[in-house]
Amino acid sequence: MQDPEIVLTNGKILDGCGNPWFWGDLAIAQGRIIEVAPPGTLRGRRVIDVGGRYVAPGFIDIHTHSDLSILVNRRAESAVRQGVTTHVIGNCGMAPAPVSEAHLADMRQYWGRISDQPEVTWEWRTFDEYLCALQSGGLAIHIAALAGHAALRLAVMGFDDRAPTPSEFDQMKALLAEAMEAGAFGLSTGLVYPPGCFAGTEEIIDLCKVVARYHGLYTSHIRGERETILDAVAEAIRIGREAGVPVQISHNAPKFGAPHDATANLRLVEEARARGQDVTVDNDVHTDLAPALSGGLPQHIQDRPVTEIAALLQNPDTRRQIRDEIVSDKRPAFGPAGLLRHGQWHRITLLHAPQTPGAVGKTIETLAREQGSEPFEVYFDLIVQNGHDAEAIFDYIDEANIRILLRHPAVMICSDGQVLAPYGFLNDPPPYSPCSYGEFPGVLERYVRDEPVLTLQEAIRKMTSFPAQRFGLMDRGVLRPGAWADVVVFDLERIHDRATNLYPHTYPFENYPHNYPEGIDYVLVNGAVVVEGEHTGALPGQVLRH
Ligand SMILES: [Zn+2]
Repeated sequence: MQDPEIVLTNGKILDGCGNPWFWGDLAIAQGRIIEVAPPGTLRGRRVIDVGGRYVAPGFIDIHTHSDLSILVNRRAESAVRQGVTTHVIGNCGMAPAPVSEAHLADMRQYWGRISDQPEVTWEWRTFDEYLCALQSGGLAIHIAALAGHAALRLAVMGFDDRAPTPSEFDQMKALLAEAMEAGAFGLSTGLVYPPGCFAGTEEIIDLCKVVARYHGLYTSHIRGERETILDAVAEAIRIGREAGVPVQISHNAPKFGAPHDATANLRLVEEARARGQDVTVDNDVHTDLAPALSGGLPQHIQDRPVTEIAALLQNPDTRRQIRDEIVSDKRPAFGPAGLLRHGQWHRITLLHAPQTPGAVGKTIETLAREQGSEPFEVYFDLIVQNGHDAEAIFDYIDEANIRILLRHPAVMICSDGQVLAPYGFLNDPPPYSPCSYGEFPGVLERYVRDEPVLTLQEAIRKMTSFPAQRFGLMDRGVLRPGAWADVVVFDLERIHDRATNLYPHTYPFENYPHNYPEGIDYVLVNGAVVVEGEHTGALPGQVLRH
């Protein structure tokens, strides 16, 4: 037996599998758990007495968009401070690799402002080169990457609103195979965003057949999460069935405008599982999102230069056409656009509008009243004046659906956020992203401790062994000898998410401080202490390859 480097003693151990806690000690050597034993029995070079706090596997965030922000902040501040030790990236169809010379500019445009940060070098071209760039500078947490369908399309055919030619499709399949060989865990799609929304179902089935050869999975931001949610869930299930891959339906809360509550989409998942198809779901617990206002425009104009978008919105004829397109929603737009088409202007609160600062903190309904104008006109004017910099908080999810999803055994917990930090570029200007700072502590605080929607062990299972199993990470997400020592020590009495304020919002937005949560006292990644009250600066994270 090796001499343990670290022993966590006197903990209430939650093994991650859904079992109730037990008193115990945990010994760690060479990155792994080597022994789990009765309390007070283990000795090691460093003994940390956790004094009755909970000891659980590090949380695995199965749905994030940290692809570039982790390069800007390799300390992974907002993630690791909430006890998260692994981020899955490449979600909603988008990954920063592969990159083609012909469409590098499209790729940079897709990612926006962060593309120009010095840490984002764009020196990589292949998926493997990107993963190597991630690893080479060190990481505080582990990263597991998905290949992105939109990224494949961008590399081959840019933002074109059409089907690929046979030769383009062959190139996409070859790039996907290359990504899978480099260690991608599967393929993600984002079927409400350009260019993913331009793809038909058959295209995705054929790509997933490549994924099947490598035993990967299919994850999807489905084709509409409101009026068409049941059709979209059915499409995702069909893709998995016909291609022979497991399906993960991403952040599957119905958004405002959906005709049913979440039991309806979950029923489709249950039926598929009853037939023997492996389909699971994730969700985050926030009712709002703060995208650019321009994200609600029809997808086929979103990739145009911002001056061109402004020109279209200034011409009364094209402005009217765009309004009609938004209201008809024939090609389902992303979730928040439901508030536009259903006239829920009181639920849209301006967060950033650099050229029209007087609008910040007000809803579009209020602005329309003040200006004696129509809300749609105000919405378009704000885009004309601020371009993509106009951002608003859209309150578009009913919390009742969040509870329904939380309680379902096939649903795991994700943030849908990204690595952020309350300093530097990632806080300039501060994005509204409570999920990035407070998702996991917030679940433990609000849905376990304050109101028992979930038992503690069930909440931990949904944050640890369940997402690990989904990604085939069978030696993570559990506390048992042989598993990698990704561990979080927390105090349920003190746990407090300091980033989430629930609707209705109050201005000024200093009410949404980007503060780290309380009560997450130690975080270990591969056996190295990354959080001990503060971030230790350690970068023991690994790029995990499938
Ligand atoms: Zn998404």
